[in-house]
Amino acid sequence: MTLPADLMRPEVLGQPAYAVADAVGLVKLDAMENPYPWPGALEAAWLECLRGIELNRYPDAAAQEVTAVLRAGHGIPESAGCLLGNGSDELIQILITAVQGSGRPVVAPIPTFVMYEVLARAGGVPFVGVPLDADFDLDMDAMLQALAEHRPALLFLAYPNNPTGRLYDPGRVREMIAANPGVTVIDEAYAPFSGHSFLDQIGEAIPGLMVMRTLSKLGLAGLRLGYLAAVPEWIEALNRLRLPYNVNSLTQRSVVFAFEHARELEAQAGRLREQRGELVEALVAKSGIRRVIPSDANFLLFQVGEGQGQSVFESLRSSGVLIKHSGASGGTLADHLRVTIGTPAENRTFLEALDRALTTG
Ligand SMILES: *Cc1c(COP(=O)(O)O)cnc(C)c1O
Repeated sequence: MTLPADLMRPEVLGQPAYAVADAVGLVKLDAMENPYPWPGALEAAWLECLRGIELNRYPDAAAQEVTAVLRAGHGIPESAGCLLGNGSDELIQILITAVQGSGRPVVAPIPTFVMYEVLARAGGVPFVGVPLDADFDLDMDAMLQALAEHRPALLFLAYPNNPTGRLYDPGRVREMIAANPGVTVIDEAYAPFSGHSFLDQIGEAIPGLMVMRTLSKLGLAGLRLGYLAAVPEWIEALNRLRLPYNVNSLTQRSVVFAFEHARELEAQAGRLREQRGELVEALVAKSGIRRVIPSDANFLLFQVGEGQGQSVFESLRSSGVLIKHSGASGGTLADHLRVTIGTPAENRTFLEALDRALTTG
C-alpha cells in the first residue's frame, strides 16, 4: 500500500492539522467571533431574502453583486481590483501558490497569524519569521535587514496583529512597504475594531501593496468571505489561481443583505470596542496579571505569572470559559493568554473565573 509518507513532503506531514478546540457548553472567547446574534426581526428578513436562491445552479462565478457591495461599503478605490476568497485564509493560500516558483520566501514578523507559515510550508515556500521586540512591536532594524537579505516574494503584516492585538505605527509600515522588494500584504482582519487602514492607499503609487480583509471578525464568520484589494494587474494574475465558484450562493446573497443592514454590525463592533476598554481596565487592576498588551482588535493578550499559563487556561475552562493559551508552545508568548471580547455578561463570567484561576493557580 502506498502511504502518505511515500508521496507527501515531510514538512507537510510534520505539521499538525489546524486545531479547533471543542467549545460545546463553554463560554466561547477563543476565536475572535462577534458574540452578538442578529435581532430576531433582522434574522427573519435575512431568511426571507434567501428564498428563491437556486441551489441547483452554480453561484455567480464573478460574484458581481457582492463585489460591488463590498467596494461601496468599504470604499475600495476605483482603480483597485478586488478578489474574493472563501475566507481570507483562501486568499493567503492563493498568494502563496502564486509565488511558489519564485525562489523567494514569505516573511512576517512573529508571533503572528499562524496561517502565513502553515500555508507557506504546505506550498513549499520558505517562511522567514522576524521576531517582534519584547513589547510585541516591530523591530525595525531586524525587519529592514530581513527584507534586504531575503528579498521576500510576500511580506505579511497583520494590522492589527494576531495574537498580540497591536497596531503597528503606520509610518513604520510605510517604511517597510518602501523597503520591501516584493509584495506587502496588509492583513486588516480586525479593521472594524481599529482606527487605521491602508485600503485607500492601494493603487498605482504603491503597486506592491495589497490589503486583505475578512468579514469573519465583524460578525459573519460562518459565511466565510474575505477579499484582497490590489492593482488590477495583480488581481487578474491571482484570479487564474482561484477555484471557480469559491464563494457560494448563500454567502453571496447573505453578504449583500448584511451590508444593507451594515449599521447593525457596526453598532455591535462599537459596543465591542467600548467593552475592550473596560476589560483592559479590569485586567490591569488584577495583581496576578503581569501585563496586558495594548489592543486595536476585538481581543486582548495578557500575561500571567511565570509558568502559570497552562494552569490558568485549564482553570478557566473548568469554570466553563474557553479562551486561547497563546503561549502553549513557549517562546516569547510563554504565559500569555488571549481572550476575545464578548458580551458584558460573558466578560463578567470570564473575569470572575479568572479571579478564581489566579488565586488557586
Ligand atoms: C482570523 C484571521 C484571518 C482569517 O480570516 P478568515 O477570513 O476567517 O479566513 C486572517 N488574518 C488574521 C490576522 C486573522 O486573525
